[in-house]
Amino acid sequence: LALYEAKRKVGDRISAYEPQLQERITARHHLEKDLDRAIERGEFHLAYQPVLSLEDERIIGYEALIRWDHPTRGPVSPAEFVPMAEETGQIVPIGRWVLREACREAATWPDQRHVAVNVSPVQFRSPLLLADITAALAASGLPAQRLEVELTETAMVEDGKAISHALENLRSLGIRVAMDDFGTGYSSLVHIRDFPLDRIKIDRSFVSRALDDPHSLAVLKAITQMGRDMAIATLAEGVETPEQMRMLRDLGCGAVQGYLIGRPERFGATALRGGTYLPAADKTREADERRS
Ligand code: C2E
Ligand code: MG
Ligand code: MG
Ligand code: MG
Repeated sequence: LALYEAKRKVGDRISAYEPQLQERITARHHLEKDLDRAIERGEFHLAYQPVLSLEDERIIGYEALIRWDHPTRGPVSPAEFVPMAEETGQIVPIGRWVLREACREAATWPDQRHVAVNVSPVQFRSPLLLADITAALAASGLPAQRLEVELTETAMVEDGKAISHALENLRSLGIRVAMDDFGTGYSSLVHIRDFPLDRIKIDRSFVSRALDDPHSLAVLKAITQMGRDMAIATLAEGVETPEQMRMLRDLGCGAVQGYLIGRPERFGATALRGGTYLPAADKTREADERRS
């Protein structure tokens, strides 16, 4: 009887949640369908976040970040729809659109600034990736040297030989390869050792803690040192305060990205405000406001 009671209680609990769960499933279904038509309806745009070199305090490039303005729901975060599009495979045409759009805009930028494009593991495994990239470069006239592809380590967990080969293919075209969010997820030093990489992007969780957590600081130190020894550029993500930036410069980190330097903005808003970075008091304040 006790067992029966327990089962009944669990059953009640499940049915109590069911309407909510059902709603969530339906909502997701709708979102998937909407995603299918988002490209043709022009609901996507790219936001560009500046990358600042700490060596010469210059903006050396921008990361393209996709934005979806849903007709009824408003802005939907890529953290929500990208994983969904990866599951359904929709990320392949969406990623193709991102590559084209990013290359098209980057072709108009001055001073050899690069554009960094996030490539999903699903795209990376697709045989279409190389063709999509070369088509985007050809259509835009952007030199391959100004395109950087960002991959997370999730893309690298499988067959090491195949991945090395794919990365070599990209690099033989002159495209740079960055490992995104390094230090999280499937982090393994084997990736750094075996794969041809141009840049390591250190996850922002290390940056945000380093000033009061000695372990985070130690990890930052080790990664920047490793980058120097292996001639791989390092970039720290999520820099929000001048203190963080100073610390990273002291560690010899090559470049930074984060709200302190600039938020992701539509092209035109960013519109390449000169080559040098001027520490702007209001940018710092903005970052402070967002955190509080
Ligand atoms: P990511 O590639 O690691 O991009 C960095 C994320 O951190 C961006 O979030 C950016 O807006 C945010 N960020 C930048 N600076 C700061 C800072 O100082 N503080 C804080 N708290 N956050 C900062 P976003 O744009 O929401 O993108 C989230 C993730 O979605 C990206 O992480 C990337 O994995 C994915 N994503 C975005 N665009 C694309 C795309 O075009 N294709 C693919 N496959 N994935 C994309
Ligand atoms: Mg990225
Ligand atoms: Mg990242
Ligand atoms: Mg990330």
